[in-house]
Amino acid sequence: MTTLEPSRVLNESPQRLAVLGATGSIGTQTLDVVRLFPDRFDVRALTCGANVDLLTEQAREFRPEIVVAGSAPKAKTLRHRLSSLDIEVLAGEEGLRHVAARDDVDSVVAAVVGFTAGLVPVLAALRAGKRVALANKETMVVGGDLVQEAVEEGDGELLPVDSEHSAIFQCIAGESEQTVETVVLTASGGPFRTRPANTFDDVTVDEALNHPNWSMGPKITIDSATMMNKGLEVIEARWLFDLTVDEIQVLVHPQSIVHSMVAFADGAVKAQLGVPDMKVPIQYALSYPSRWPAPHERLDWSEVSRLDFEQPDTDKFPCLQLAYDALDAGGTAPAVLNAANEQAVSLFLEEEIAFVDIPRAIEDVMDQLTLNGTPTLEDLSDADEWARECVKELAATSLN
Ligand code: NAD
Ligand code: MG
Repeated sequence: MTTLEPSRVLNESPQRLAVLGATGSIGTQTLDVVRLFPDRFDVRALTCGANVDLLTEQAREFRPEIVVAGSAPKAKTLRHRLSSLDIEVLAGEEGLRHVAARDDVDSVVAAVVGFTAGLVPVLAALRAGKRVALANKETMVVGGDLVQEAVEEGDGELLPVDSEHSAIFQCIAGESEQTVETVVLTASGGPFRTRPANTFDDVTVDEALNHPNWSMGPKITIDSATMMNKGLEVIEARWLFDLTVDEIQVLVHPQSIVHSMVAFADGAVKAQLGVPDMKVPIQYALSYPSRWPAPHERLDWSEVSRLDFEQPDTDKFPCLQLAYDALDAGGTAPAVLNAANEQAVSLFLEEEIAFVDIPRAIEDVMDQLTLNGTPTLEDLSDADEWARECVKELAATSLN
């Protein structure tokens, strides 16, 4: 067993960090990890969408060189609030792209939600040779091909934050890629695992936001309730680990203790287990290849009496199958799946459409798609915009 050598750790210069989406669920937990290791991190950049109150507090605590807000008016507010400190303030996509590629940044935590603000800074960071700790799965779903190209072009490094992908990454450490037979992504099943499908018409936003095991941002929480989250993770795994569709299985595991598994060519299976706590995979993406001793909650085996596994029910949760179909089709199909889903989830959260309309809308848009097999970034943005418009039109006409 190798152990961490304290002298080596003490001599390491601090990792200069940019946290994109610092005010969200992953962003705030990243800063919790930073607080545990004040000597190992130097926070250079923090960004938010609209939550300038929290970003102001974070900027006062961590004193970054630069902060970015999602829009020009929000940036103006931030500039005013931070005027007594020597902190640069930028806005929008340009700002995100700038902080992701800055010379004084080593690692970028990509924790913005959604494709629109997510992909471009990830590509910029990788091309500039940064370590990217990737939480934003929409980036890989839509632009996995482009992200892989960016990894190959620069000497950037892509490390998963999503707990399942972190688990797979931990299981394959030290193994040869060719010996991986299948990966098994575990899924909690969300809040409606045992709820009869014939009551789904009545699902409320509050019920869908009430995840049994994880506390996360609203979009991913709804994705967990429809199981689209697992569908997106299947596509994410395809690109992160260079797998085929057939090599990726999903198993429902209600306890969320086994975070995922890898089956090898000799019949051996490795799993990574732990208390559901995103700080563990966030920290691993930043500490890799080391493990840093930390006081995160431990598994209490006296409380873990059983681990259950069951096959997912794709009749009840059609989003999972739609994601497999999109991955099979390739090209612009995952971009359209993702955009239709982002739009439908946003309309559901605004109580404009019903829970059951989410898969209906996505399926409808996927049926209308004319596939582009080898899309550029611009083609992906166009496909994204087209799919969003289709869902809005459906919501205004045939849904409800
Ligand atoms: P969240 O909604 O809590 O936070 C999103 C962050 O992005 C916030 O800081 C917000 O201000 C910022 N943001 C939103 N729109 C923006 C825009 N247009 N421009 C700039 N910034 C913008 O979301 P989250 O739960 O932290 O999830 C972030 C990403 O991580 C998602 O892609 C999600 O799928 C993924 N992820 C989250 C978890 C989790 O436990 N929360 C687990 C695995 C993966
Ligand atoms: Mg996950």
